[in-house]
Amino acid sequence: MTYDIAIVGSGPAAYSASIYASRYKLTNIIFGKIVGGTISEAHKVCNYPGLPDITGIELGQKFEAQSKELGAEVAYESVTDIKKIEGIFHVYTDRNKEYEAKTVILTTGTERNKLMLPDEDKYLGKGLSYCATCDAMFYRDKTVAVVGGKNAAVMSASMLSDIAKKVYLIYRGTELLGEPMWVDQLMGRKNVEIILKTLPIGLEGENRLERIKLSQPYNGEQYVNVDGVFIEIGSEPDGLFPNMLGLEVDEKKYIKVDQTQATNVEGIWAAGDCTNASNGFRQVVTAVGEGGIAANSIFRYLSQKSRA
Ligand SMILES: Cc1cc2nc3c(=O)[nH]c(=O)nc-3n(C[C@H](O)[C@H](O)[C@H](O)COP(=O)(O)OP(=O)(O)OC[C@H]3O[C@@H](n4cnc5c(N)ncnc54)[C@H](O)[C@@H]3O)c2cc1C
Repeated sequence: MTYDIAIVGSGPAAYSASIYASRYKLTNIIFGKIVGGTISEAHKVCNYPGLPDITGIELGQKFEAQSKELGAEVAYESVTDIKKIEGIFHVYTDRNKEYEAKTVILTTGTERNKLMLPDEDKYLGKGLSYCATCDAMFYRDKTVAVVGGKNAAVMSASMLSDIAKKVYLIYRGTELLGEPMWVDQLMGRKNVEIILKTLPIGLEGENRLERIKLSQPYNGEQYVNVDGVFIEIGSEPDGLFPNMLGLEVDEKKYIKVDQTQATNVEGIWAAGDCTNASNGFRQVVTAVGEGGIAANSIFRYLSQKSRA
């Protein structure tokens, strides 16, 4: 079968696009292995209208359930290649499957930035993590550090302070840049120490991570002893599909879209964190907005084509 829309990614933008598409009676398939996408990593989501206090995992599950109920197909597969052949998109996945679609919406989000320290990969899963929500429970009553100073880092440190004995927050800036509500909450925690104007410059430990070397001494010590470190220093989009499909990107590699979420390539739209839309405000509310707009644009595009 040839779907009306192949939706690449399984985050908020994808489900929103699917929900709108299904209500326009456009057949659609969502590709992605992580139900809910990045928001599934959020310990709590408190800014999504109508659902004042929900875990990221629950929110993702609700999005998926609604999409499926309306008729979306879901393939728990990663898309490895997309080719446009005689006006039809051929979508290939890591399960060696091939799907066909008239249009594509890319909702691939972003990927976590690394510190780029020499032994970073060596300690991954051995005391080093990029997802506090996923791994926090391994650090009950232990000492951990979070690296970063924006929302993700502040929220992670706050969550970890409920579980760990001691939390260091290490940030190179002069003040934390998270949402003031989250920063205030963190400041009130007795087991949190904030180390500003400092960078980790080395990771050390015998078989697993044991200490972080700091760019300048803290309380007279060059090292902080830890059982775990959580790197929360932002993320950036993957260049795979822009390169493969000839999509225009901005200077930070975000896919350029117009106000209908269309890319420069006919038949391909993009929505959510991977785009340069919504004034760079990368949140669930903006991702679902862009996903809805993309589906609406495709509805108009396919209606016009069928009338032509
Ligand atoms: C810790 C944390 C807490 C956050 N808390 C909040 C919050 O409280 N409120 C809020 O509004 N926002 C929050 N955010 C931001 C929010 O998660 C994102 O803005 C939102 O998830 C973006 O949705 P998206 O659909 O564009 O992309 P994503 O949610 O990133 O989903 C993209 C998905 O596509 C998948 N994918 C990528 N490439 C492929 C491929 N080739 N094939 C198949 N699948 C692919 C990825 O694995 C990913 O699962 C938080 C983010 C983090 C990290």
